[in-house]
Amino acid sequence: MIHPDTVLQFISPEIGYGVFATRDIPQGTITWVHDPLDQILTPEQIRNMPGIYGDPLARYTYRTPEGNHVLLWDLARFMNHSCSPNCMGTHYGFEVAVRGIPAGSELTVDYATLYMTPEEAFDCYCRAEGCRWRISKDDAANLVDQWAAQVQVGLLHIGEVDQLLFHLLSNGHLQRACGDHGVPYQLSLRRLF
Ligand SMILES: [Zn+2]
Repeated sequence: MIHPDTVLQFISPEIGYGVFATRDIPQGTITWVHDPLDQILTPEQIRNMPGIYGDPLARYTYRTPEGNHVLLWDLARFMNHSCSPNCMGTHYGFEVAVRGIPAGSELTVDYATLYMTPEEAFDCYCRAEGCRWRISKDDAANLVDQWAAQVQVGLLHIGEVDQLLFHLLSNGHLQRACGDHGVPYQLSLRRLF
């Protein structure tokens, strides 16, 4: 489920829609959590689907490390790519704001973090500082440390802000994410309760 302080906005015919903040979303905010309405599709299920589903699957699903596709039921499926994203995913079914997202700004993720296949490489026109121009599976090898550092920054601030999606986190997932990124769990939680 996407953070409630968001809205779907049309950007342009080339880009289509994007997800924008309706209020300031502080650094450390949990911006998305995988929830029970999101549909998990196995590779076998996808192979057995009629070809007409190819485009929506490519456009609106993301891939998990296990190779499943996840179709998000809400606005989250419209989040666009940026080479300088303000939201980063963890391995535990949630994303965190890695910097403050001012009201009116677009929420973005880096699609290269989403277990792309070689065939899914695409030209990027995000124009963010440091835009890589071409996004591919190979980016992960170069950027994995940078991405981990960004997630760490978000997790360090997670206890400082109201977390409207906290109740949707699976038991233990925040603790494990903090452990992976060297963030003391108690520090991260200090103002959540
Ligand atoms: Zn870019």
